[in-house]
Amino acid sequence: MTASAARYGAPGDDHMKHPHLHLHAHERLVCPVCRVRALQYRPYDTWPPTTDLDSVSPPYRDTFGYPSYESCVRCGYAFGFTDDPGADVEPLTFAEYYEWWQSQGEPWPDDDDRERFLAHGGSPDPE
Ligand SMILES: [Zn+2]
Repeated sequence: MTASAARYGAPGDDHMKHPHLHLHAHERLVCPVCRVRALQYRPYDTWPPTTDLDSVSPPYRDTFGYPSYESCVRCGYAFGFTDDPGADVEPLTFAEYYEWWQSQGEPWPDDDDRERFLAHGGSPDPE
């Protein structure tokens, strides 16, 4: 299996749209938005950050390097998209997104992802 296939799943693999679900819970990284240990990849090249996140403006690639483009399974922040959505769309900081997500009742973005995350030992609680 190539590295790409290992990461994204083979064609026809049901896990193709859930690449992060191959990772064991304890190997995940804490999401800087919701503080849940939910990420498969470092969200940016330079991670963890040594600067105060509140002092950094999006797009975060300008400060922390290339983004993972992973969406957090718990809060749904998409590193490299939510902070850098392109023309005519307002980027959201981690704090702004967290405030919105909380105001919505901390929803899981995807029910299937939630069930698999919990079934694989993931903790839904912030650290
Ligand atoms: Zn998160």
